[in-house]
Amino acid sequence: MLDFCIVLWYNTNQSKAFGGDFTARGLYVHVPFCAKKCRYCDFVSFADAADKADMYLDALEKEAAEYAGMEFDTVFIGGGTPSFLKAEQIRRLTEMIRSSFRIAAGAEFSAEINPGTLDADKLSAMLRGGVNRASIGVQSFDDGELAALGRIHTSAQAVKAVEDVYAAGIENINIDLMTSIPRQTRQSLKKSLKTAVSLPVSHISAYSLILEEGTPMYDDYKAGKIALPSDDEDRDNFGMLTDFLEYNGFGRYEISNFAKSGYECRHNIKYWECREYVGLGAAAHSYLRKKRFYNTSDLEEYISGRFRSDDMTELSRGDMASEFMMMGLRMVEGVSADEFERRFGVGIEDVYGAELEKFIKLGLMERRRGRYYLTSRGLDVSNSVMCEFI
Ligand code: SF4
Repeated sequence: MLDFCIVLWYNTNQSKAFGGDFTARGLYVHVPFCAKKCRYCDFVSFADAADKADMYLDALEKEAAEYAGMEFDTVFIGGGTPSFLKAEQIRRLTEMIRSSFRIAAGAEFSAEINPGTLDADKLSAMLRGGVNRASIGVQSFDDGELAALGRIHTSAQAVKAVEDVYAAGIENINIDLMTSIPRQTRQSLKKSLKTAVSLPVSHISAYSLILEEGTPMYDDYKAGKIALPSDDEDRDNFGMLTDFLEYNGFGRYEISNFAKSGYECRHNIKYWECREYVGLGAAAHSYLRKKRFYNTSDLEEYISGRFRSDDMTELSRGDMASEFMMMGLRMVEGVSADEFERRFGVGIEDVYGAELEKFIKLGLMERRRGRYYLTSRGLDVSNSVMCEFI
C-alpha cells in the first residue's frame, strides 16, 4: 500500500497549522499479508502466508510489550493488507493495541483496506476496535488498468468498499490513486478522478507508478511488453490531477496528498514533521530518542522473536537538520525558519543560505511569513531540490 513512509520528530507550528493539537508519538503496525502479490509491488508483504497470521499476531504482542504503556495519538495499521486478516484476528490486533498502549482521546486510528478483502464482519471488527480512518487501496477506477497492475479487485468493488466503509460510520476515508499506469490515458485518469470525487472520500493520496526491480511489471517493461508515459507526460497528467482535485475541494498539502479541509492525515504529518514514531511488525521502522532502527523483513525471523535488525543509526544534529528540510519541504506549507532555529540552535539561513537563495532565484522556492516552501514548479522537481539539502 502507498499511504506510508519514513522518518520522525515534532513541530508545534506545523501541527497547529493543520488544526491539530497532537503532541504524542505515532504508532505504525505492519500487517505483511496479501491475498495475491500485485505486479508492481516490492513492499514487504507475502501471499500464501495466511496460516502464519496467528503466530505473527503472537509475535506482535511480544514486540508491543517492549513499549508497554507508551502514549500514541495516531495509530496506523498498514501493510500488506490489514483487511486480509480474519475478523477475529482484526479484533485481536486492535485489542492488543488498546491494551498495550495509552491511546490518546481523539486519536486518529487508520487501517488500510483492500477492496477485494473487505466484508461486514471485518469492518465491524475495525469499528469496534476504534478504527476511525480508512485508507483504501483503489489505485484506479478502470478495470483494464487494475488488471494491468495485478490488483485483485474491480472498479465496482472499490466503489462498494468506499460506500460500505462510509455507511458503517467512518467518514474519514482516504483512497490511493495512481498515475503512469500502463494503458492509462488522460481520459481514463480523468474518469477515475471524477469517480473519486463523486464518492464520500475526504483524502486522496496520488502517486506515479514506479517500477521497482524484481517485480513482474519491471520485467515486462524491460522485455518491451509494456510502455510507460514519458516524464513530461506524467508531469502533465499529475498537473491535471492536481488542478482537478483542488477544483473539487481537495487541497494539496503534501507532494502526493490532497485533503478536504481538516482531513489531512495526522499520522503521515508526523513523518514529514520529523516527529517520533514506533513501528511494530516485520520491516517496520521506528524513530525514537534520536535513534532510527528497523525490524527484520524476514517473516519467519520476526515470528521467532528476533525482531530488530542490528542496524541502528543515531542521528547527529546535522542529520536531523537535513531531514527537517527534506521532509518539511514535501509539505506545501514548507518549513518554519523559527522552528528550525528552535530545534537546532542556529538560523536556517546560516546553514542553508546558499541553497535557499539559489532555489528562490530559480523560482523553485519562496519565503513568506517566516516559512520557506516549494513553488508549484518546485514541487514538480522536488526530488532534485531536496537532494541539495543532504
Ligand atoms: S495489496 Fe498489492 S500493493 Fe498492496 S502490499 Fe499487497 S501486494 Fe503490495
